[in-house]
Amino acid sequence: MTHPIQKTDDEWRALLAEKGAEPVAYQVTRQAATERPYTGKYEQHWADGSYHCICCGSKLFESGTKFDAGCGWPSFSLAIPGAIEERRDLSHGMVRVETVCANCGAHLGHVFPDGPAPTGLRYCMNSASLEFQAPLSRLRRLPPEGTTLVAGKPQRRRSRVACFAAIRPRIHSPP
Ligand SMILES: [Zn+2]
Repeated sequence: MTHPIQKTDDEWRALLAEKGAEPVAYQVTRQAATERPYTGKYEQHWADGSYHCICCGSKLFESGTKFDAGCGWPSFSLAIPGAIEERRDLSHGMVRVETVCANCGAHLGHVFPDGPAPTGLRYCMNSASLEFQAPLSRLRRLPPEGTTLVAGKPQRRRSRVACFAAIRPRIHSPP
């Protein structure tokens, strides 16, 4: 099946490197490799937010559906509708259901029928295929005028404004 987003192997490699993705991200997402269990950065990551495809940014899971399956990989009981495509996978002498990003075809992991209620599903994902995003409302919240921030996006926005002001050419008033 063709996916809406198509890139060459070199383009994916460059994009993942630019994003600072984990070193195994290319092999996992584009060559269906599996990261070693208990090594992924999201295996024990429980912050509120959402998990997106590392390759194309498509939203795949909400943090509220993540659970500790004890298997060594980040696990979810429910995917965002339409975000994931399922394929029958007969590799390694097993019958499994592979999951790929419906938008770009990135290999994500597999889905098993042994998850918690109410879905009974366990989306067993490679951490390297995912990118966590904090809730949008938290990023958009801007401080009142004149306040100084210690961290977060608004501070970056503020410094960009300052940089712009600094490079603006000086206007000389006529004598
Ligand atoms: Zn994708």
